[in-house]
Amino acid sequence: MKTSTIVASTIGVLAVATIGYALYFDSKRRNDPEFRRKLKKERKRVQKLAKEEANKLSTITTQTVEEALASIKDEDFPTSMEEREKFCMEQLSAGESLFTQGPENYGTAAICFYKALKVYPAPAELVMVYQKTIPSEVFALVMGMLSKDVQSKQEKYYTVFPPKEMNVKVDEKPEGVTAEGEKVMRRGLAATKSFSAGQTIYSEAPVISSLEPSLEGDFCHYCLKQIAGEEPSVPCAKCRDVVFCSEKCKTMAGQEFHDILCTKDSEDASSPERSLSEYTKVTRKLVPEMLAKFLVKMVHEESLNSGAEYNSFDHMERLRYLEIPPSAEEEKEMSLLKVALGSNIPGIDEFITEERYMLMKGRLLYNLYGISTSLDPQHEIESLPERLRSVRDGPITGAGFYRVSSYLMHSCEPNVKITFSDKSHTLSLEAIREIKEGEELVVGYIKSDKVSTEDRRLQLFMNYRFRCMCPLCETTD
Ligand SMILES: [Zn+2]
Ligand SMILES: [Zn+2]
Ligand SMILES: [Zn+2]
Repeated sequence: MKTSTIVASTIGVLAVATIGYALYFDSKRRNDPEFRRKLKKERKRVQKLAKEEANKLSTITTQTVEEALASIKDEDFPTSMEEREKFCMEQLSAGESLFTQGPENYGTAAICFYKALKVYPAPAELVMVYQKTIPSEVFALVMGMLSKDVQSKQEKYYTVFPPKEMNVKVDEKPEGVTAEGEKVMRRGLAATKSFSAGQTIYSEAPVISSLEPSLEGDFCHYCLKQIAGEEPSVPCAKCRDVVFCSEKCKTMAGQEFHDILCTKDSEDASSPERSLSEYTKVTRKLVPEMLAKFLVKMVHEESLNSGAEYNSFDHMERLRYLEIPPSAEEEKEMSLLKVALGSNIPGIDEFITEERYMLMKGRLLYNLYGISTSLDPQHEIESLPERLRSVRDGPITGAGFYRVSSYLMHSCEPNVKITFSDKSHTLSLEAIREIKEGEELVVGYIKSDKVSTEDRRLQLFMNYRFRCMCPLCETTD
């Protein structure tokens, strides 16, 4: 593969990490041009050298890349912020001195640059620096290692996700054929053991959930629980808009998103604190706010440095999405997000590109579930304007984005149903009939009773872009 191709394909994956950099190295030092200048010092000499040596070098083979990766396979990388920074600088200067000693050291130099990249919080930026400052042969080798690394991380994903204790696995199933006769595959969930009707298969808390805006103040802003009359609620200290059901929810919300997204009782509807929440209130569209929460949570995750191999973005980027053409609405939403997050997340401006925003929005729209947490089954709540997977008769009090449940496919004759048994945003999957080990789990995205097959199929196609081939649709065709 050409270097440029590798770079182009890895940048997309790496750019994600740039969002968290502000929380890592002290930004003043990070922006200090010293280390870049250091790298650029011998740039001209190196470029000349690289040109001269280019022809003598044999082409970099896959084998070299694999050998280099194997040589550092068991190495532990530092985890603390200071250690990472120190380690990164050491590797950069080691790599630099190695390549200036000549082409026979290019392999070991590349390993140093690769290791620096592994701990640097904004790898995409560092790649740009490398591209300009290190010999192209070394650069190609670093990129080769990186793309191999990304590839194996991709391949490993479904061997560790979903967690075993959830009793499900992601399975590929055929979903018809294309006009050219090519098989179309889709991913769904299958049970890893048998269940009888009424049994809970798993429970799952959402990555992000949001409350129907008019319920703010009566329902917990974090877990969406209704706050009953006699129960004390915990208000946010900085705004009058939101309340929590417990100190725990208040702390979690604060850390994950609310500290940044809190309106701080600003009166001005166009202030950076208010504009996004004002938009949510007026339009009742939850997706933009959920995406803002998602991005803030991502930064929080990175700062935790939990050692988790996959972050929320890794989970999200594998999901099906709805292709929607960008309109003035998305332009408005993007600018609201940038205003709401801008001063708190440096780099967010560059991160939220139209392409990335449309993909993230499309993923939420395809995968969101309606949440029902009202204690009153007759509660009057006008239905939300965005599509939500739901067959519930109860009122929809909000929406949630779930890692595992997003993989559930639809059937008009489902074998599982979604419940919110503790009246919070935690979803439980319950078997509604006997399920055998290995059987696919299918849920209803839309209500199926009293709707003709034609109408169901149309609705599913409009909202989820597939033609339902479930037994009910096929027999009443
Ligand atoms: Zn709560
Ligand atoms: Zn607040
Ligand atoms: Zn159907």
